[in-house]
Amino acid sequence: MTWRSYFNSVIGHEVKFIALLVFACLLVSTTGLPFNWLLLIALCCYVGYHLYQGKIILEWLSEHKSSSPPDEIRGIWSLIAQQVHQKNKYHKNKDNRNKKLIGQFTKVSQAIPDGIIILDSQGRIEWFNDPAIKLLGLRKQQDRGVQILQLLRDPGFVKYFQSHDRDKELRMDSPISNKLKLSLRVVGFYDKQLVIIQDFSALRHMEQVRQDFVANVSHELRTPLSVIVGYLETLSEEESDELAAYQPVFFQMNQQSSRMTRLVEDLLTLSNLDNEQTINHNQQVDVPAMLNEVLRDANILSGSKNQTITLNADPSLWVLGNTREIHGAFSNLVANAVNYTPEGGKIDIRWYREDDQLVMSVKDTGAGIDALHIDRITERFYRVDRGRSRSTGGTGLGLAIVKHALQRHEAALEIESTIGEGSTFSCVFPLERGIESPELVANS
Ligand code: ADP
Repeated sequence: MTWRSYFNSVIGHEVKFIALLVFACLLVSTTGLPFNWLLLIALCCYVGYHLYQGKIILEWLSEHKSSSPPDEIRGIWSLIAQQVHQKNKYHKNKDNRNKKLIGQFTKVSQAIPDGIIILDSQGRIEWFNDPAIKLLGLRKQQDRGVQILQLLRDPGFVKYFQSHDRDKELRMDSPISNKLKLSLRVVGFYDKQLVIIQDFSALRHMEQVRQDFVANVSHELRTPLSVIVGYLETLSEEESDELAAYQPVFFQMNQQSSRMTRLVEDLLTLSNLDNEQTINHNQQVDVPAMLNEVLRDANILSGSKNQTITLNADPSLWVLGNTREIHGAFSNLVANAVNYTPEGGKIDIRWYREDDQLVMSVKDTGAGIDALHIDRITERFYRVDRGRSRSTGGTGLGLAIVKHALQRHEAALEIESTIGEGSTFSCVFPLERGIESPELVANS
């Protein structure tokens, strides 16, 4: 505010009022009243006037503050009342806008098919939409303010909610029906958390149909294939002159049908990994003994390639897991190292504890893998070099099996590779899966 407008609206008014008082005093002084009495009366009038203005403002504020200030308010009080009125108007508009936004948000959140729950910093439910009621069976009135873990007690959810690793979604059955398959994600915003719940029953059903189809086809192919392989073996061993000319053909047919058999076996392994939910993942697995077996097989597979394969395993370290699945993963990695390492190369297998992890690593001196393939190498049928993979008898499913088997043990596959130097594939288990060799414990 400039001095000029302040003078016009405030000081000007006060000066006029004081001038009026002085004039009235001068008039009254002609009656002979002493000067100090005059001053007292003038002062009382001035204070009374301001008290009156204050009263009007208080009445206006308590009753009609949304309307414009009454005309009786003058001078500095009028200025204050105008400011209050403008601020009120601004906040009222803002309130209306916020109310409109909240209304729109509520409508949108009810319209989307995903369930949404807002939790406070302590994990208590603050708000949820109608789809959350449908998907999780929440109760509109009773469940507000309740700890989410008291309502969703699924062990998978409890573990996911309490962990800090929430990058991935969690899949679980709905607490109201196990036919309802849910995918949940928890994201933090400010000091609150947002739980987003999606119904993926239809998708899961399609996945199941696809998995069943692959499993059934693989199963059905198994018997005819073993018959064909059997006959081909007999024919290739036949020493008749009539069949001699066909031996190269039999050889090729034999090779291809063995490849098909491996493919069918790998597909069956994958669909077992997809479907078998009840399998025991807490067997005591003697990893050092298992790796000795894998080493023996690797030397047989390596044959005349003159590779040096070494094993260095901590004898005291076992894991809790499924023997068949862990063996499948380890032997796949070692077989790959043998297949993709040229003659005279080195393969180093290690089993050790590193901080809070247990690691099985296979290091080779093969051709290495370009970084651009590494992210995709565990996809089904992904091959870096199709020709080379075929010539080694690869199916393109080995690393997918490894990854899947490890995931079922909360373990991960890590790959490091340098072109021209070689690759290291590591299976990294969480420390909680490790146990001390029962034999060593018994002897100590
Ligand atoms: P495959 O049956 O073809 O070996 P995998 O899933 O086991 O299928 O491996 C996928 C691809 O990864 C392979 O085709 C190969 O190109 C590459 N690969 C796997 N292991 C190694 C390795 N140790 N060194 C170099 N390349 C590898």
